[in-house]
Amino acid sequence: MTANGRPRVLILGGGFAGVGAAQKLEHADAEVVLVDRHDYHTFQPLLYQLATGLLETTAVGHSLRDLLSRHENTVVHKARVTAIDLDQRTVEFDEIGPISYDYLVFALGAEVNFFGTAGAPDHAFPMYTLPHAVHLKDHLLERWEAVDRDPSLLADGALNVVVVGGGPTGVETAGALAELYRGDFATDYPNVDPEDARVTLVEAGPELFGMFKPKLRDYAEKALTKRDVEVKTGAAVASVTPTTVELKSGETLKAHTLVWGAGLQGNTIVQSLELELQRGNRIGVGPDLTLPGRSEVFVVGDIAAITDSKTEQVLPQLGSVALQSGEHAGKTIADRIADKEPKPFKYKDKGTMATIGRGAAVVQMLGGRTMTGFKAQAAWGAVHLALLPTNEDRAKAVVDWVGAAATHQRAGRITVERS
Ligand SMILES: Cc1cc2nc3c(=O)[nH]c(=O)nc-3n(C[C@H](O)[C@H](O)[C@H](O)COP(=O)(O)OP(=O)(O)OC[C@H]3O[C@@H](n4cnc5c(N)ncnc54)[C@H](O)[C@@H]3O)c2cc1C
Repeated sequence: MTANGRPRVLILGGGFAGVGAAQKLEHADAEVVLVDRHDYHTFQPLLYQLATGLLETTAVGHSLRDLLSRHENTVVHKARVTAIDLDQRTVEFDEIGPISYDYLVFALGAEVNFFGTAGAPDHAFPMYTLPHAVHLKDHLLERWEAVDRDPSLLADGALNVVVVGGGPTGVETAGALAELYRGDFATDYPNVDPEDARVTLVEAGPELFGMFKPKLRDYAEKALTKRDVEVKTGAAVASVTPTTVELKSGETLKAHTLVWGAGLQGNTIVQSLELELQRGNRIGVGPDLTLPGRSEVFVVGDIAAITDSKTEQVLPQLGSVALQSGEHAGKTIADRIADKEPKPFKYKDKGTMATIGRGAAVVQMLGGRTMTGFKAQAAWGAVHLALLPTNEDRAKAVVDWVGAAATHQRAGRITVERS
Protein backbone atom coordinates (compact mmCIF):
# COMPACT_ATOMS: atom_id res chain seq x y z
CA MET A 1 0.00 0.00 0.00
CA THR A 2 1.14 3.55 -0.67
CA ALA A 3 1.20 6.27 2.01
CA ASN A 4 -2.26 7.42 0.93
CA GLY A 5 -3.67 3.91 1.38
CA ARG A 6 -4.13 3.21 -2.33
CA PRO A 7 -2.63 0.02 -3.75
CA ARG A 8 0.39 0.44 -6.03
CA VAL A 9 0.31 -1.23 -9.43
CA LEU A 10 3.79 -1.57 -10.89
CA ILE A 11 3.90 -2.17 -14.65
CA LEU A 12 7.23 -3.37 -16.02
CA GLY A 13 7.51 -2.66 -19.75
CA GLY A 14 5.82 -0.09 -21.98
CA GLY A 15 5.18 -2.29 -25.03
CA PHE A 16 1.71 -3.30 -26.23
CA ALA A 17 1.08 -5.32 -23.08
CA GLY A 18 2.29 -2.74 -20.53
CA VAL A 19 0.54 0.17 -22.22
CA GLY A 20 -2.63 -1.92 -22.62
CA ALA A 21 -2.61 -2.56 -18.85
CA ALA A 22 -1.99 1.12 -18.04
CA GLN A 23 -4.87 2.21 -20.31
CA LYS A 24 -7.33 0.03 -18.40
CA LEU A 25 -6.10 1.36 -15.04
CA GLU A 26 -6.65 5.05 -15.88
CA HIS A 27 -9.67 5.38 -13.58
CA ALA A 28 -8.67 2.80 -10.94
CA ASP A 29 -8.31 3.91 -7.32
CA ALA A 30 -4.62 3.03 -7.39
CA GLU A 31 -1.15 4.49 -7.83
CA VAL A 32 0.12 3.21 -11.19
CA VAL A 33 3.85 3.22 -11.95
CA LEU A 34 5.08 2.21 -15.40
CA VAL A 35 8.82 1.63 -15.89
CA ASP A 36 10.59 0.99 -19.19
CA ARG A 37 14.27 1.15 -20.16
CA HIS A 38 13.22 3.51 -22.98
CA ASP A 39 11.16 6.68 -22.72
CA TYR A 40 9.07 5.52 -25.68
CA HIS A 41 6.68 2.77 -26.72
CA THR A 42 7.96 0.82 -29.73
CA PHE A 43 5.56 -0.28 -32.44
CA GLN A 44 7.52 -3.37 -33.48
CA PRO A 45 5.39 -4.44 -36.48
CA LEU A 46 6.51 -1.29 -38.31
CA LEU A 47 10.23 -1.54 -37.51
CA TYR A 48 11.00 -2.89 -40.97
CA GLN A 49 9.31 0.19 -42.46
CA LEU A 50 11.65 2.39 -40.40
CA ALA A 51 14.67 0.32 -41.43
CA THR A 52 13.74 0.74 -45.11
CA GLY A 53 12.99 4.45 -44.91
CA LEU A 54 9.21 4.23 -45.36
CA LEU A 55 8.37 5.62 -41.92
CA GLU A 56 10.07 8.15 -39.67
CA THR A 57 11.29 7.31 -36.13
CA THR A 58 8.39 9.11 -34.45
CA ALA A 59 5.85 7.01 -36.37
CA VAL A 60 7.31 3.86 -34.79
CA GLY A 61 8.28 5.14 -31.31
CA HIS A 62 5.88 7.19 -29.18
CA SER A 63 6.78 8.98 -25.91
CA LEU A 64 5.40 6.94 -22.98
CA ARG A 65 5.00 10.09 -20.88
CA ASP A 66 2.92 11.63 -23.65
CA LEU A 67 0.84 8.46 -24.10
CA LEU A 68 -0.12 8.39 -20.43
CA SER A 69 -0.11 12.13 -19.74
CA ARG A 70 -3.84 12.29 -19.15
CA HIS A 71 -3.76 9.52 -16.51
CA GLU A 72 -3.78 11.42 -13.22
CA ASN A 73 -2.98 8.27 -11.19
CA THR A 74 0.04 7.22 -13.31
CA VAL A 75 3.76 8.05 -13.32
CA VAL A 76 6.36 6.88 -15.84
CA HIS A 77 10.04 6.20 -15.08
CA LYS A 78 12.83 5.46 -17.54
CA ALA A 79 14.99 2.78 -15.91
CA ARG A 80 16.13 -0.78 -16.51
CA VAL A 81 14.79 -3.60 -14.35
CA THR A 82 17.72 -5.40 -12.72
CA ALA A 83 16.10 -7.71 -10.16
CA ILE A 84 12.65 -8.85 -9.07
CA ASP A 85 11.87 -10.26 -5.63
CA LEU A 86 8.46 -11.92 -5.84
CA ASP A 87 8.44 -12.84 -2.11
CA GLN A 88 9.24 -9.29 -0.94
CA ARG A 89 7.09 -7.79 -3.74
CA THR A 90 9.89 -5.43 -4.73
CA VAL A 91 11.63 -4.60 -8.00
CA GLU A 92 15.12 -3.12 -8.38
CA PHE A 93 16.28 -0.84 -11.19
CA ASP A 94 19.58 0.52 -12.45
CA GLU A 95 19.00 4.25 -12.08
CA ILE A 96 16.15 4.63 -9.59
CA GLY A 97 15.54 3.15 -6.14
CA PRO A 98 13.59 -0.08 -5.57
CA ILE A 99 9.81 0.05 -5.95
CA SER A 100 7.44 -2.16 -3.97
CA TYR A 101 4.06 -3.20 -5.32
CA ASP A 102 0.67 -4.57 -4.40
CA TYR A 103 0.07 -5.72 -7.99
CA LEU A 104 2.75 -6.41 -10.57
CA VAL A 105 2.21 -6.45 -14.35
CA PHE A 106 5.18 -8.20 -15.84
CA ALA A 107 5.37 -7.16 -19.51
CA LEU A 108 9.05 -7.09 -20.43
CA GLY A 109 8.58 -8.74 -23.83
CA ALA A 110 11.05 -10.94 -25.67
CA GLU A 111 14.61 -10.66 -26.91
CA VAL A 112 16.44 -11.79 -29.98
CA ASN A 113 17.71 -15.37 -29.94
CA PHE A 114 20.73 -16.13 -32.14
CA PHE A 115 20.58 -19.85 -31.25
CA GLY A 116 24.34 -19.85 -30.64
CA THR A 117 25.17 -18.93 -34.25
CA ALA A 118 28.88 -18.04 -34.38
CA GLY A 119 29.48 -14.34 -35.08
CA ALA A 120 25.78 -13.40 -35.01
CA PRO A 121 25.81 -11.35 -31.76
CA ASP A 122 28.63 -9.18 -33.17
CA HIS A 123 27.81 -8.98 -36.87
CA ALA A 124 24.10 -9.65 -37.41
CA PHE A 125 21.47 -6.89 -37.51
CA PRO A 126 18.51 -7.99 -35.39
CA MET A 127 15.10 -6.34 -35.87
CA TYR A 128 13.59 -6.06 -32.45
CA THR A 129 14.06 -2.51 -31.15
CA LEU A 130 13.98 1.00 -32.54
CA PRO A 131 17.80 1.35 -32.29
CA HIS A 132 18.09 -1.94 -34.24
CA ALA A 133 15.99 -0.54 -37.11
CA VAL A 134 17.84 2.80 -37.18
CA HIS A 135 21.19 0.99 -37.05
CA LEU A 136 20.23 -1.21 -40.03
CA LYS A 137 18.98 1.77 -42.04
CA ASP A 138 22.19 3.74 -41.38
CA HIS A 139 24.35 0.71 -42.20
CA LEU A 140 22.58 0.14 -45.55
CA LEU A 141 22.89 3.80 -46.51
CA GLU A 142 26.56 3.78 -45.50
CA ARG A 143 27.22 0.69 -47.66
CA TRP A 144 25.53 2.25 -50.72
CA GLU A 145 27.54 5.45 -50.23
CA ALA A 146 30.72 3.37 -49.92
CA VAL A 147 29.99 1.57 -53.20
CA ASP A 148 29.14 4.88 -54.87
CA ARG A 149 32.66 6.06 -53.93
CA ASP A 150 34.40 2.75 -54.65
CA PRO A 151 32.48 0.47 -57.06
CA SER A 152 35.03 -2.33 -56.58
CA LEU A 153 33.33 -3.09 -53.24
CA LEU A 154 30.37 -4.51 -55.16
CA ALA A 155 32.24 -7.69 -55.99
CA ASP A 156 32.84 -8.22 -52.27
CA GLY A 157 29.07 -8.28 -51.65
CA ALA A 158 28.94 -4.81 -50.05
CA LEU A 159 25.33 -4.31 -51.10
CA ASN A 160 24.15 -7.89 -50.67
CA VAL A 161 21.78 -8.57 -47.80
CA VAL A 162 20.99 -11.96 -46.33
CA VAL A 163 17.77 -12.00 -44.31
CA VAL A 164 17.45 -14.96 -41.94
CA GLY A 165 14.01 -16.32 -41.07
CA GLY A 166 11.04 -17.22 -43.24
CA GLY A 167 8.41 -15.97 -40.78
CA PRO A 168 6.61 -12.61 -41.03
CA THR A 169 9.60 -10.55 -39.78
CA GLY A 170 12.02 -12.03 -42.33
CA VAL A 171 9.58 -12.02 -45.24
CA GLU A 172 8.36 -8.47 -44.61
CA THR A 173 11.94 -7.19 -44.27
CA ALA A 174 13.19 -9.00 -47.38
CA GLY A 175 10.25 -7.74 -49.47
CA ALA A 176 10.67 -4.15 -48.27
CA LEU A 177 14.44 -4.21 -48.82
CA ALA A 178 14.01 -5.53 -52.36
CA GLU A 179 11.57 -2.73 -53.17
CA LEU A 180 13.96 -0.17 -51.67
CA TYR A 181 16.88 -1.59 -53.66
CA ARG A 182 15.06 -1.83 -56.99
CA GLY A 183 13.17 1.45 -56.47
CA ASP A 184 14.61 4.43 -54.61
CA PHE A 185 18.20 3.21 -54.31
CA ALA A 186 18.34 2.38 -58.03
CA THR A 187 17.37 6.00 -58.71
CA ASP A 188 19.55 7.51 -55.96
CA TYR A 189 22.69 5.70 -57.12
CA PRO A 190 22.65 5.71 -60.95
CA ASN A 191 26.27 4.49 -61.05
CA VAL A 192 25.35 1.22 -59.33
CA ASP A 193 23.71 -1.56 -61.33
CA PRO A 194 20.87 -2.73 -59.02
CA GLU A 195 21.27 -6.26 -60.40
CA ASP A 196 24.56 -6.37 -58.48
CA ALA A 197 22.78 -5.82 -55.15
CA ARG A 198 21.21 -9.09 -54.04
CA VAL A 199 18.63 -9.74 -51.33
CA THR A 200 18.54 -13.40 -50.22
CA LEU A 201 16.06 -14.86 -47.75
CA VAL A 202 17.30 -17.92 -45.88
CA GLU A 203 14.94 -20.23 -43.98
CA ALA A 204 16.02 -23.40 -42.17
CA GLY A 205 12.62 -25.11 -42.55
CA PRO A 206 11.29 -26.57 -45.79
CA GLU A 207 9.01 -23.58 -46.55
CA LEU A 208 8.42 -19.91 -45.80
CA PHE A 209 5.51 -18.85 -43.60
CA GLY A 210 5.16 -22.18 -41.75
CA MET A 211 2.13 -20.83 -39.83
CA PHE A 212 0.10 -20.14 -42.98
CA LYS A 213 -1.82 -22.46 -45.33
CA PRO A 214 0.19 -23.91 -48.27
CA LYS A 215 -1.46 -21.63 -50.86
CA LEU A 216 -0.39 -18.54 -48.87
CA ARG A 217 3.14 -19.93 -48.59
CA ASP A 218 3.29 -20.35 -52.39
CA TYR A 219 1.88 -16.87 -52.86
CA ALA A 220 4.56 -15.37 -50.58
CA GLU A 221 7.40 -17.17 -52.33
CA LYS A 222 6.16 -16.06 -55.77
CA ALA A 223 5.67 -12.46 -54.57
CA LEU A 224 9.23 -12.37 -53.22
CA THR A 225 10.73 -13.94 -56.34
CA LYS A 226 8.85 -11.37 -58.46
CA ARG A 227 10.60 -8.68 -56.38
CA ASP A 228 13.99 -10.28 -57.12
CA VAL A 229 14.46 -11.83 -53.68
CA GLU A 230 16.35 -15.11 -53.87
CA VAL A 231 14.64 -17.58 -51.53
CA LYS A 232 16.68 -20.42 -50.01
CA THR A 233 14.64 -22.84 -47.92
CA GLY A 234 16.12 -25.78 -46.00
CA ALA A 235 19.20 -23.60 -45.47
CA ALA A 236 20.48 -22.74 -42.00
CA VAL A 237 23.15 -20.18 -41.13
CA ALA A 238 26.28 -21.64 -39.52
CA SER A 239 28.34 -18.48 -38.95
CA VAL A 240 28.56 -14.79 -39.79
CA THR A 241 31.48 -12.41 -40.37
CA PRO A 242 31.27 -8.71 -41.35
CA THR A 243 31.44 -9.68 -45.03
CA THR A 244 30.23 -13.29 -45.31
CA VAL A 245 27.47 -15.64 -44.25
CA GLU A 246 28.31 -19.31 -44.13
CA LEU A 247 25.47 -21.81 -44.43
CA LYS A 248 25.45 -25.22 -42.74
CA SER A 249 25.62 -26.78 -46.23
CA GLY A 250 29.11 -25.25 -46.57
CA GLU A 251 28.00 -22.60 -49.07
CA THR A 252 29.40 -19.12 -48.37
CA LEU A 253 27.39 -16.04 -49.36
CA LYS A 254 29.20 -12.73 -49.79
CA ALA A 255 27.16 -10.15 -47.91
CA HIS A 256 28.05 -7.18 -45.72
CA THR A 257 24.61 -7.27 -44.10
CA LEU A 258 22.83 -10.09 -42.34
CA VAL A 259 19.39 -9.23 -40.95
CA TRP A 260 18.30 -11.58 -38.18
CA GLY A 261 14.55 -12.19 -38.11
CA ALA A 262 14.78 -15.81 -37.04
CA GLY A 263 14.10 -16.21 -33.39
CA LEU A 264 12.99 -14.82 -30.07
CA GLN A 265 13.17 -15.82 -26.46
CA GLY A 266 11.42 -14.33 -23.43
CA ASN A 267 13.37 -11.54 -21.70
CA THR A 268 16.35 -13.22 -20.03
CA ILE A 269 15.53 -11.56 -16.70
CA VAL A 270 12.99 -14.35 -16.16
CA GLN A 271 15.84 -16.82 -15.63
CA SER A 272 16.56 -15.20 -12.26
CA LEU A 273 13.01 -15.83 -10.97
CA GLU A 274 13.42 -19.57 -10.37
CA LEU A 275 10.17 -20.30 -12.20
CA GLU A 276 9.52 -23.27 -14.40
CA LEU A 277 9.81 -21.79 -17.88
CA GLN A 278 8.14 -22.97 -21.07
CA ARG A 279 9.74 -23.19 -24.54
CA GLY A 280 11.48 -19.94 -25.50
CA ASN A 281 11.93 -18.68 -21.91
CA ARG A 282 8.21 -17.89 -21.57
CA ILE A 283 6.34 -17.93 -18.26
CA GLY A 284 3.22 -20.10 -18.06
CA VAL A 285 0.16 -18.35 -16.59
CA GLY A 286 -3.32 -19.38 -15.46
CA PRO A 287 -6.64 -18.46 -17.16
CA ASP A 288 -6.64 -15.06 -15.38
CA LEU A 289 -3.04 -14.41 -16.58
CA THR A 290 -1.57 -14.57 -13.07
CA LEU A 291 1.41 -16.58 -11.97
CA PRO A 292 0.34 -19.85 -10.32
CA GLY A 293 0.26 -19.27 -6.54
CA ARG A 294 0.77 -15.48 -6.87
CA SER A 295 -2.53 -13.84 -7.67
CA GLU A 296 -0.95 -10.36 -7.45
CA VAL A 297 1.50 -11.05 -10.33
CA PHE A 298 0.18 -10.79 -13.89
CA VAL A 299 2.42 -11.93 -16.76
CA VAL A 300 1.36 -10.66 -20.18
CA GLY A 301 2.50 -10.22 -23.79
CA ASP A 302 5.46 -11.93 -25.45
CA ILE A 303 6.99 -13.01 -22.15
CA ALA A 304 3.92 -15.06 -21.21
CA ALA A 305 2.88 -18.50 -22.44
CA ILE A 306 -0.91 -18.01 -22.48
CA THR A 307 -3.08 -20.99 -23.35
CA ASP A 308 -6.06 -20.07 -25.52
CA SER A 309 -9.24 -21.20 -23.77
CA LYS A 310 -10.83 -22.07 -27.15
CA THR A 311 -8.05 -23.97 -28.92
CA GLU A 312 -6.00 -25.13 -25.90
CA GLN A 313 -2.90 -23.97 -27.83
CA VAL A 314 -0.32 -21.51 -26.51
CA LEU A 315 -1.03 -18.16 -28.18
CA PRO A 316 1.62 -16.78 -30.57
CA GLN A 317 3.85 -13.78 -29.77
CA LEU A 318 1.74 -11.18 -31.55
CA GLY A 319 0.84 -7.55 -30.97
CA SER A 320 -2.85 -8.33 -30.63
CA VAL A 321 -2.18 -11.04 -28.01
CA ALA A 322 0.07 -8.64 -26.09
CA LEU A 323 -2.40 -5.75 -26.21
CA GLN A 324 -5.43 -7.87 -25.26
CA SER A 325 -3.60 -9.69 -22.45
CA GLY A 326 -2.24 -6.41 -21.05
CA GLU A 327 -5.69 -4.84 -21.19
CA HIS A 328 -7.12 -7.88 -19.45
CA ALA A 329 -4.57 -7.63 -16.62
CA GLY A 330 -5.29 -3.91 -16.17
CA LYS A 331 -9.06 -4.48 -16.17
CA THR A 332 -8.79 -7.41 -13.72
CA ILE A 333 -6.71 -5.36 -11.28
CA ALA A 334 -9.14 -2.42 -11.57
CA ASP A 335 -12.06 -4.82 -10.92
CA ARG A 336 -10.34 -6.39 -7.92
CA ILE A 337 -9.59 -2.97 -6.41
CA ALA A 338 -13.25 -2.03 -6.94
CA ASP A 339 -14.39 -5.36 -5.38
CA LYS A 340 -15.87 -6.53 -8.69
CA GLU A 341 -15.68 -10.11 -9.93
CA PRO A 342 -12.98 -10.36 -12.68
CA LYS A 343 -13.50 -12.56 -15.76
CA PRO A 344 -11.07 -15.10 -17.29
CA PHE A 345 -9.07 -14.01 -20.35
CA LYS A 346 -10.58 -14.73 -23.78
CA TYR A 347 -8.49 -13.94 -26.84
CA LYS A 348 -10.28 -12.41 -29.84
CA ASP A 349 -8.40 -13.67 -32.89
CA LYS A 350 -8.33 -11.06 -35.66
CA GLY A 351 -6.47 -13.35 -38.06
CA THR A 352 -2.79 -13.88 -38.85
CA MET A 353 -1.34 -11.60 -41.49
CA ALA A 354 1.84 -10.32 -43.09
CA THR A 355 2.82 -8.01 -45.95
CA ILE A 356 5.38 -8.92 -48.59
CA GLY A 357 5.52 -5.68 -50.54
CA ARG A 358 3.41 -3.05 -52.24
CA GLY A 359 0.02 -4.64 -53.03
CA ALA A 360 1.15 -8.05 -51.77
CA ALA A 361 0.05 -9.44 -48.41
CA VAL A 362 -1.53 -12.55 -46.89
CA VAL A 363 -4.29 -12.93 -44.31
CA GLN A 364 -5.55 -16.14 -42.70
CA MET A 365 -8.69 -15.83 -40.62
CA LEU A 366 -9.64 -18.01 -37.66
CA GLY A 367 -12.21 -20.05 -39.64
CA GLY A 368 -9.60 -20.76 -42.35
CA ARG A 369 -10.68 -18.02 -44.82
CA THR A 370 -7.73 -16.46 -46.62
CA MET A 371 -7.01 -13.26 -48.54
CA THR A 372 -4.09 -12.12 -50.68
CA GLY A 373 -3.06 -9.01 -52.62
CA PHE A 374 -4.48 -5.51 -52.13
CA LYS A 375 -7.46 -6.73 -50.09
CA ALA A 376 -5.11 -8.47 -47.65
CA GLN A 377 -2.88 -5.42 -47.51
CA ALA A 378 -5.88 -3.22 -46.66
CA ALA A 379 -6.85 -5.66 -43.88
CA TRP A 380 -3.26 -5.65 -42.59
CA GLY A 381 -3.28 -1.84 -42.60
CA ALA A 382 -6.59 -1.66 -40.73
CA VAL A 383 -5.52 -4.14 -38.01
CA HIS A 384 -2.13 -2.45 -37.53
CA LEU A 385 -3.57 1.06 -37.49
CA ALA A 386 -5.88 -0.10 -34.69
CA LEU A 387 -2.84 -1.29 -32.71
CA LEU A 388 -1.11 2.12 -32.97
CA PRO A 389 -1.44 3.94 -29.65
CA THR A 390 -2.93 7.29 -30.72
CA ASN A 391 -4.92 8.89 -33.54
CA GLU A 392 -1.93 11.13 -34.25
CA ASP A 393 0.24 8.04 -34.87
CA ARG A 394 -2.45 6.56 -37.11
CA ALA A 395 -2.65 9.78 -39.12
CA LYS A 396 1.15 9.93 -39.46
CA ALA A 397 1.36 6.33 -40.69
CA VAL A 398 -1.50 6.80 -43.18
CA VAL A 399 0.12 9.95 -44.63
CA ASP A 400 3.46 8.13 -45.05
CA TRP A 401 1.87 4.98 -46.52
CA VAL A 402 -0.38 6.87 -48.94
CA GLY A 403 2.52 9.11 -49.93
CA ALA A 404 4.79 6.13 -50.56
CA ALA A 405 2.08 4.24 -52.50
CA ALA A 406 1.37 7.23 -54.72
CA THR A 407 4.95 8.35 -55.36
CA HIS A 408 6.91 5.13 -54.57
CA GLN A 409 9.21 7.43 -52.54
CA ARG A 410 10.62 6.70 -49.08
CA ALA A 411 11.23 9.95 -47.27
CA GLY A 412 13.32 8.50 -44.43
CA ARG A 413 16.45 7.56 -46.40
CA ILE A 414 18.93 9.93 -44.77
CA THR A 415 21.59 9.34 -42.11
CA VAL A 416 21.71 11.67 -39.11
CA GLU A 417 25.23 11.82 -37.67
CA ARG A 418 25.76 12.28 -33.92
CA SER A 419 28.00 15.32 -34.38
C1 LIG B 1 10.07 -6.99 -36.42
C2 LIG B 1 8.79 -7.43 -35.77
C3 LIG B 1 7.61 -7.43 -36.51
C4 LIG B 1 6.41 -7.81 -35.92
N1 LIG B 1 5.27 -7.78 -36.68
C5 LIG B 1 4.10 -8.06 -36.09
C6 LIG B 1 2.89 -7.95 -36.84
O1 LIG B 1 2.91 -7.62 -38.04
N2 LIG B 1 1.71 -8.18 -36.20
C7 LIG B 1 1.68 -8.51 -34.88
O2 LIG B 1 0.58 -8.69 -34.31
N3 LIG B 1 2.79 -8.67 -34.15
C8 LIG B 1 4.00 -8.44 -34.73
N4 LIG B 1 5.15 -8.56 -34.00
C9 LIG B 1 5.08 -9.03 -32.61
C10 LIG B 1 4.68 -7.91 -31.67
O3 LIG B 1 5.37 -6.72 -31.98
C11 LIG B 1 4.97 -8.37 -30.24
O4 LIG B 1 4.20 -9.52 -30.02
C12 LIG B 1 4.62 -7.31 -29.23
O5 LIG B 1 5.39 -6.15 -29.41
C13 LIG B 1 4.84 -7.83 -27.81
O6 LIG B 1 4.46 -6.83 -26.91
P1 LIG B 1 5.02 -6.86 -25.42
O7 LIG B 1 4.43 -5.66 -24.76
O8 LIG B 1 4.82 -8.17 -24.82
O9 LIG B 1 6.59 -6.68 -25.57
P2 LIG B 1 7.43 -5.50 -26.20
O10 LIG B 1 6.67 -4.77 -27.23
O11 LIG B 1 8.73 -6.11 -26.56
O12 LIG B 1 7.63 -4.51 -24.95
C14 LIG B 1 8.46 -4.83 -23.88
C15 LIG B 1 8.95 -3.55 -23.26
O13 LIG B 1 9.77 -3.88 -22.15
C16 LIG B 1 10.91 -3.03 -22.13
N5 LIG B 1 11.98 -3.73 -21.44
C17 LIG B 1 12.57 -4.89 -21.79
N6 LIG B 1 13.50 -5.24 -20.86
C18 LIG B 1 13.51 -4.27 -19.93
C19 LIG B 1 14.23 -4.06 -18.72
N7 LIG B 1 15.14 -4.94 -18.27
N8 LIG B 1 13.95 -2.96 -17.99
C20 LIG B 1 13.00 -2.06 -18.39
N9 LIG B 1 12.29 -2.21 -19.54
C21 LIG B 1 12.54 -3.30 -20.29
C22 LIG B 1 11.21 -2.77 -23.59
O14 LIG B 1 11.92 -1.56 -23.75
C23 LIG B 1 9.81 -2.72 -24.21
O15 LIG B 1 9.31 -1.40 -24.29
C24 LIG B 1 6.38 -8.21 -34.57
C25 LIG B 1 7.56 -8.22 -33.83
C26 LIG B 1 8.75 -7.83 -34.41
C27 LIG B 1 10.01 -7.84 -33.60
